[in-house]
Amino acid sequence: MTAVPTIGVLALQGDVREHRAMLERAGAHALAVRRPEEVERVDGIVIPGGESTTISKLARAFGVLDPRRAALHAGLPGFGTCAGMIMLADHIEAGTAGQETFGGLDVVVRRNAFGRQVDSFEADLALDFEEHPLQRPFRAMFIRAPWVEKVGSSVEVVARVSVVHRGAGAGAVGRIVAVRQANLLATSFHPEITGDPRIHAMFVDMVRDSTFVNGK
Ligand code: GLN
Repeated sequence: MTAVPTIGVLALQGDVREHRAMLERAGAHALAVRRPEEVERVDGIVIPGGESTTISKLARAFGVLDPRRAALHAGLPGFGTCAGMIMLADHIEAGTAGQETFGGLDVVVRRNAFGRQVDSFEADLALDFEEHPLQRPFRAMFIRAPWVEKVGSSVEVVARVSVVHRGAGAGAVGRIVAVRQANLLATSFHPEITGDPRIHAMFVDMVRDSTFVNGK
């Protein structure tokens, strides 16, 4: 893989500009992608937050749901944040009837898990990788966020909530909020808006290490 991978941010809904800026800071070339032929030219893809039911419908309408699902399952590196995490989950709790995802992550993700009354909160995260650049706490912002309720045997837990600074109840502490499985990374929180590029750097490294060749 090239030293400067090209990473697409799926521009159906959400913080596309913020993700692009963080990816560029982490050493990638980043661009917004929407149509199937654009999505086929990238080495990795970010699925931003927003509203997963809307992203799912728009992905279907733009004709990217099935081809992206196939590419992600074949090894295209993918990084989903918040609603994007939901889009990468194989199983959703509290989804709407018939809500579709790209899938690929062997996890159960609960939508709006921290409670609908808790719109947003900030927390420090504990990170489970011992030899990882994320040993220092990561301050994370959660907005109507999901959490990961169950993980399959090949899923690594990257982060749990350790300390809540404001907003959320005690039930948030200890919850799994970042996971990785092979080429896929997902966070419940929004690393694109807090100015700390370490999670994006983790994804850029995953893309650099990947041997997957997209349809380009
Ligand atoms: N609650 C939203 C959903 O279910 C996710 C919120 C977000 O992405 N900030 O899709």
